[in-house]
Amino acid sequence: MESDASATPRALATEAVHAGREDLAGLGLHAVPIDLSTTYPSYDSRREAARIDEFAVTGARPDGPPVYARLDNPTTARFETALARLEGTGSAVAFASGMAALTAVLLARASQGLRHVVAVRPLYGCSDHLLTAGLLGTEVTWTDPAGVADAIRPGTGLVMVETPANPTLAEIDIRALAHSCGSVPLLVDSTFATPVLQRPAEHGARIVLHSATKYLGGHGDVMAGVVACDEEFARTLRRIRFATGGVLHPLAGYLLLRGLSTLSVRMKAAAAGAADLAGRLAADPRVARVHYPKLGGAMVAFEVHGDPHQVIAGVRLITPAVSLGSVDSLIQHPASISHRIVAEEDRRSVGVSEQLLRLSVGLEDVDDLWRDLDGALSNHSVRSARKGVHAEDASGRVSPQAVR
Ligand code: PLP
Repeated sequence: MESDASATPRALATEAVHAGREDLAGLGLHAVPIDLSTTYPSYDSRREAARIDEFAVTGARPDGPPVYARLDNPTTARFETALARLEGTGSAVAFASGMAALTAVLLARASQGLRHVVAVRPLYGCSDHLLTAGLLGTEVTWTDPAGVADAIRPGTGLVMVETPANPTLAEIDIRALAHSCGSVPLLVDSTFATPVLQRPAEHGARIVLHSATKYLGGHGDVMAGVVACDEEFARTLRRIRFATGGVLHPLAGYLLLRGLSTLSVRMKAAAAGAADLAGRLAADPRVARVHYPKLGGAMVAFEVHGDPHQVIAGVRLITPAVSLGSVDSLIQHPASISHRIVAEEDRRSVGVSEQLLRLSVGLEDVDDLWRDLDGALSNHSVRSARKGVHAEDASGRVSPQAVR
């Protein structure tokens, strides 16, 4: 859905609760209506045929009812409008998952004969796998941000990065990278930042991708993906979504819109807790290294001296589970779970070590979270002491100032 470019710009917190809902009062409604229709009646088949032709050729959202739910859905379209407004792009297109969103982007470029992708590690494990395995007929060149310009060649359709990256939280200067990309579109997976902390399109990224399963939904109960981009690319994505079927269910669209309403306050509160915990972890002798983005955010990664599996086994309040961005805190071991599918040497080359743990900080009281982590780290240090690693060994200690 196109956003209203003529409107006076409003602050993100305001857009988060109003964008995509401006017509509700006029409809006599307060809550967003959920349209569960899979099909839409029409007694005028000629007109319907013209509407189908129009969509097939242009990919523009149909005027009036959608014909069939795979073309469009009014509830999901409200979420798309709101997300585009938050990201500062002309449009956004929602999908059934983050991976469905990335798939549609890759297919869109490949359908234009642009099958080569330049990408920077680390990426989320399955995104890495999709590119490395060439499952969609694409070919990838892995490089670092400095090597992007040289890696681009005729047939390059996309440059892809994550910043902050999953799981190491490494950060990339989006503006500098966009410059290196020249005319090749830069895709930034901004899942970890959300538009509250970073709006990649303002820095030259042409495509912004979110696993909306994470912070946008925010409660661990919606699986979704979304691509924020200009309307021209959105039209291609809608045609691909229609043909390949990776649509978002309208209930999910509703929940995402509701999630957006509190995105700003959730991110700020969770990020305050994460910064606090990053400092405490950095000052702890049982922890070898802490990664926390300069940008801020609610993710913390840390390397322990001993057995990270014992930390996972030791948490009681924090949930040991993959995924992130929920109101409750989650911890996982990337080398075993989120990045398992990436070859070991590729993981290691970008710092996804066996010692690394990834913590998604939620909205719990930070002292309660610390007590849980402290207990889990003691669990870990007791067992690693038995293996000959001293819990009190502070040689790898990182001062809070060195937290990054
Ligand atoms: N991008 C990032 C940064 C992720 O962390 C994930 C999933 O963890 C994805 C994309 C894929 O999203 P989904 O699980 O919604 O398909």
